[in-house]
This record gives sequence, C-alpha cells and structure tokens, in this order.
Amino acid sequence: MVNSVFCCLKEILLREVLSHNMRLLIIALLLSLSVVFAAEIRYGQLYLEVLVSESKQILISSTGNINIGETGSPLAKLLNGDVSLQLVASDDQDMLGLINKAEVISADSIKQYPDANIRERFIWQDGKLAIQYEKLTFEDKYFTSKGAAESYAAQTGYPKQQISYIPMQNASLKVSPQNGEAFYYQLPVKLSAMDNILFNGIKNDYNGTFIIKSIQGKLVVTNLVDIENYVAGVVPNEIGNSAPEEALKAQTVAARTHAISLLLQNKHVGDGYDLCNGTHCQVHKGNYLRETQIDKAVLDTKGIVMLYEDKIADGVYHSSCGGKTESNQNAWSGKAIPYLQGVACNPELDSLDLSNETNAINWINTNELSSNMASWEKRSEKWEKTLSKNSLQMNSGVRNPRSITILHRGVSGRIMRLKITGDNEEIIRGEYRIRQILGSLPSSFFYIANGIRVNNSYSLADEISIKGRGSGHGVGMCQVGALQKARAGWIWQDILLFYYPGILFSDDWLQTNNLNGSEIHSGE
Ligand SMILES: [Zn+2]
Ligand SMILES: [Zn+2]
Repeated sequence: MVNSVFCCLKEILLREVLSHNMRLLIIALLLSLSVVFAAEIRYGQLYLEVLVSESKQILISSTGNINIGETGSPLAKLLNGDVSLQLVASDDQDMLGLINKAEVISADSIKQYPDANIRERFIWQDGKLAIQYEKLTFEDKYFTSKGAAESYAAQTGYPKQQISYIPMQNASLKVSPQNGEAFYYQLPVKLSAMDNILFNGIKNDYNGTFIIKSIQGKLVVTNLVDIENYVAGVVPNEIGNSAPEEALKAQTVAARTHAISLLLQNKHVGDGYDLCNGTHCQVHKGNYLRETQIDKAVLDTKGIVMLYEDKIADGVYHSSCGGKTESNQNAWSGKAIPYLQGVACNPELDSLDLSNETNAINWINTNELSSNMASWEKRSEKWEKTLSKNSLQMNSGVRNPRSITILHRGVSGRIMRLKITGDNEEIIRGEYRIRQILGSLPSSFFYIANGIRVNNSYSLADEISIKGRGSGHGVGMCQVGALQKARAGWIWQDILLFYYPGILFSDDWLQTNNLNGSEIHSGE
C-alpha cells in the first residue's frame, strides 16, 4: 500500500515536471534571454546546444505553432504549419583567421565587448565543470578556405589549432511559411515549438528551443536543452526503452558522465554547437522513442555523475563485451585509466586469460547464451560473418592475401594488432581499424573459423569465415551485461561500480558561479 502510494506520487511528480505548462515556462524564460554562445549555465543547470541539422536549406514539418525571431530581440512571429528556411547568399564568405591571442574574460564582462569574437571552452576547475570565455584577437591575415589557412600555417610554423572560423556578421535567413509570403531575419535566429517538429523529414521528434546560425556557409540548427533533457534524448537510442529500470538508470548515469567528459574534450569548438547528434559524441534524437520510463530513470538519477579522484570519470560504454571488458589503453592507447582496466562481465571468465589464442577460440565457441536476452543482445553477444579474399585484398592493400597472424589480443580477447601476409605484408593496428578492414565486424574479438591454424596464424580460404563475440570497443559499461545484471536484481549503483570500479557518485559537479566568483544573473 505504502509502496503504491509512493509510486503514484512519483508518477504525479514526473508528470508535473514534464508537463506542457512547465515546458512552456522554461521555453518562455529561455527566449527572454539572448543566446549567442553555445553552452550556458542558468538557474544552476547546464544548458547545451546539441546539433539537430546542418545544411543550406532546412524544411521544418510542423502541425502546430512555431515561434521565430532574432536572438536578443523581443519580437517574434507566430507561424503555423511547415516552414522552409534558407541561408541567403551573401557576398561575404566565412573567413578563417589565425588566433594571435586568447584572453580569458569573465561571463559578466562579455557584454563589454559586443563586437568581439568570443570563444567558449569547458574546463574542470576546483572539482567542477565550468565554462571559460576567451576573447580572441586575430592576426591581420585572413583566408577564404581551410586549405589556404592550413598551408599558410604549415609554411610559417603557425600552430594549426589556432586557425579559427570567423562567423559571417551579416548573413540572413529567408523564412518561408506555407502561405507564400517570405520574410528575412538577421542570424542567429531562435525558434521554439511546443509540439514536436521534424527537420528535413528526419523522423526525430523535437520540441523546445532551437538556435539557427550560419557556420561555414551552412545553416546550423541546434536544440538548446538542459543536460537532463539531453540525456533523456540519448538513452532510448543507446539501450532501448524496454530495458529494465535499473539498467536504464545505469545507462542514464553513464551517458550523463560521458557527455561531460566529451564537453571537456572541447571537440566541437568553432562548429557552433557543443555536442553533435551522432556516434562521434552520443546519438541524440530529441524526443524520438522517449517514453515515461526513460524520463523516470533520468529523474530518479537527476544530476548524478561518476567521479574518480575529484575528476569526472569517462563514462564510456559499448553494446556487448562478449565476456570480458577491455582496457582503455589497449583500445585507444594512451595512459591507463584505473577504472577502465577490464572486468569479467561473465563470472565464468574470472580466471580465463582471453588474450591467449586457444582460450579465445574456446570461449567464442562456447554456446550458452542466456535465454532471457532480446534478439539484438544475442546478435551482438555472438556472431558469424564471411569475407571474400578479394574484399580483404581491397580493404587492406595486401595482394593475394594468404594468412592472418594475430599479434596481440587485449584482456577482452579483442585483437589489437594483426598481420596480413600475401605478395606483400601489412600490419593492422587498433581494434576499430581491424574491424573495418575485415569487413565492418561488430568487434575485433574473433578468429578465422575455416583457416588452418599454426600457433597464432590462420591460412585463408577464398571465402573467409569469421566467428566472434561482442560488439563495440569493449571499454567501460557493457550494455548487454548491464541488462543481464539488472534482470538478476542488481541496482544501478552496483552495475556501474562493477564496470567502473573505484568511482564515486556525485551530483555536485557544476560550477554555478561564473569564474569571477560572482553570481550569473538569471535574466536581463
Ligand atoms: Zn561529436
Ligand atoms: Zn559484457
């Protein structure tokens, strides 16, 4: 009884939090602020710009209302139905410059430099994530193409990282609603929609606030979302919305943690957004497949991330390890990260060394897969592929390939280095490259099933049969393993501590004061 009352309360709370009115309020608040930069910290929350669409022309499919106006302007038009957006060709191309100086300024002082080029970077400071603003000064030398800038940099020894796009100042946007009229706005433009809209017909539903800008001759549309809504848009694409509750929560915390470590890598500085919506960062599809159980997992773990020794942990994850997870230095080289050294996802493997060829083959051939696995889980746990010798020749550049020698397997059994021998010889390094060359394999944990094996070398038939296990790089949380553990009654904290041993959970990781120490104003 107590339980069911508690459940109902939680559901009501959840509905409250995600209600239309609440969303309307958030959107209205956001629209009252000028949004020039990508990420912002407002009301103690981190707001990100996540890429939605990037092209010269964008068609928005809508069955409801769309609000559109210039950022920083209180004027907005209310449109109904489909809208087409077009970047108006300007004489001015995007220019590239060479950064001469990057001066760190406080968030408060940005408005003192209305015409300055300001770049933002994420930094980790005093145990928290903060946004650092830099005022850029350029050399008196400009380029109209990246190639020209790079060749100048190469000739003069200028560091390549200091080449930066200078956004077009006077680009405008042609907005054409269905009724035939057209009007023009100065970019950047903000757009908001209460009901779901589609961009260029792609079946990812979005609502909320969007920023449209011109970057490198294209329209870039971003979705301005807080980190919690961002995570809710990632999780269903990663582990599916039918996963057991504790697995959804583990995935939510891993995705939130991974997002922050991605931000700290500043991969998209100058692109006009903080995170892209593809596998390069994390797959984000707005509200697509987002259902109540996803929102509940996000709400139940609100703000929680994994830390290791006062730093954000890298919450990397993958589909299926195939038995054991891999170490980060084996998968990507670089320094060993203590909580990413590989664990026996399947307890049977506790004392089995999968870097040994015979052990690897035996485990790949072990048949038992849990009957409670979904079919995608079974497919990613254990698989077979074939590859023609011709394809191998084309992919690897080895003429008449005759044998493959396994030179190094990591702790998960994934091959990290192999040699293809034919009329010439090629050593292939790295699990990802090996997968590509052997025909886009799910993982590099495999062996050649129809070759004659001598020690670690396999002869190759015309049609090469490959048997393997696992899907993905194998580092960090194994999604199939997390699902199995949740089904066996594990709670999300134990699942994460198993895959990332030694980490701590914290919801206190955001620097809500700006770097000068004064409060960020909640409105202007
Ligand atoms: Zn990305
Ligand atoms: Zn696993």
